[in-house]
Amino acid sequence: MVKGRKVILLKEFLPFHLPDIGKEEIDEVVDSLKSGWLTTGKKTKLFEDQFAGFLGKGMYSVAVNSATAGMHLALEAIGIKNGDEVITTPYTFTATAEVIRYFGANPVFVDIDPKTFNMDVNQIEKAVTSKTKAIMPVHFAGLSCEMDEILHIAKRYNLKVIEDAAHALPTSYNGNLIGTLDSDATVFSFYATKTLTTGEGGMLVTKDKNIAERCKHMRLHGINRDVFDRYTSTKPSWYYEVIAPGFKYNMTDIAASIGIHQLKKVWQFQRIREKMAALYDSELAELPIILPPKSKNDTHSWHLYMIQLNTLKIKRDEFIQKLSENGIGSSVHFIPLHLHPYWKNTYQLKASDFPNSLSIYNNVVSLPLYTKMTDRDQQKVIHCIKKILQ
Ligand SMILES: *Cc1c(COP(=O)(O)O)cnc(C)c1O
Repeated sequence: MVKGRKVILLKEFLPFHLPDIGKEEIDEVVDSLKSGWLTTGKKTKLFEDQFAGFLGKGMYSVAVNSATAGMHLALEAIGIKNGDEVITTPYTFTATAEVIRYFGANPVFVDIDPKTFNMDVNQIEKAVTSKTKAIMPVHFAGLSCEMDEILHIAKRYNLKVIEDAAHALPTSYNGNLIGTLDSDATVFSFYATKTLTTGEGGMLVTKDKNIAERCKHMRLHGINRDVFDRYTSTKPSWYYEVIAPGFKYNMTDIAASIGIHQLKKVWQFQRIREKMAALYDSELAELPIILPPKSKNDTHSWHLYMIQLNTLKIKRDEFIQKLSENGIGSSVHFIPLHLHPYWKNTYQLKASDFPNSLSIYNNVVSLPLYTKMTDRDQQKVIHCIKKILQ
């Protein structure tokens, strides 16, 4: 039977990623569906409060429907305008740079340090001009950027810092969680493959009350309900004021239902991924590959586990093909922005402009690493890689 065969094939193929959704998440979503309240409401507020609480005192949190939306709101809140420049990395997903273009502002790319895949802090100052307004670091794969240096440069040149923390939950820097540092705002992603998922979703966090307030208004059409909350018993409950042409970026209670329970497991999930990363490290150590960068003392979220192949021995694409033939999914993070037609043509970029991004990209493969994987699944990956490379 065709139907039966399909099921077996699905079972045998180890996907690159599967979300880890428990009964609690499912029950909470069902509860929302039955409650009659589907969009932003009590559960979104609860998720925001829990998220701020997770990070610690003095944090504001704004739930949105994607990290892309959150980064757009953050740049709006710090006043990015047409013609401004924002320094970021070409070694990221296009969302990081695309939100800069939403304003007619321009990303200025700084190559990565090949040892960390993060923006090379020694190249940032050279990229600063009179038009520079902000720096957007990306904590690649879940390894923190050198934030002291970045914040120091920002201070010296009076720049804002918006952290793309799509990979960085939970990640720490000098013992402090990403999200709690002295940047202007930090944005997490809850996309389906990220370390905490709500299907689609994101969270902007900041210590700045004004930024939080502006983002709260702008995520929902620029509507200010505080005029109602504050003065109000005299004003009717349908009253609101529009203070700006905002966006439609609010998180639904359905998504927040998933997030509330995912957040409770965030450390448990991290510990599992950390253990799996350590197992890959020890089992793959003898092979002709470079293991992923790590931090000595800080938490790595292990959103991605990326090995670098010696592509003189085996081409990356061939390696991925062989993994796939053996029933193992893998991926490549990311195609650097300067190789994509839009970025290449808009800014006349050459592949060789960012040599570190280019060479890392040519050699890397992301291996499956997620909490739904069993020990046997991981042994299968390890065994297969040894077979291909030895
Ligand atoms: C996933 C991702 C984003 C975008 O997140 P969304 O929630 O899908 O908008 C941004 N930056 C990086 C580095 C990402 O990996």
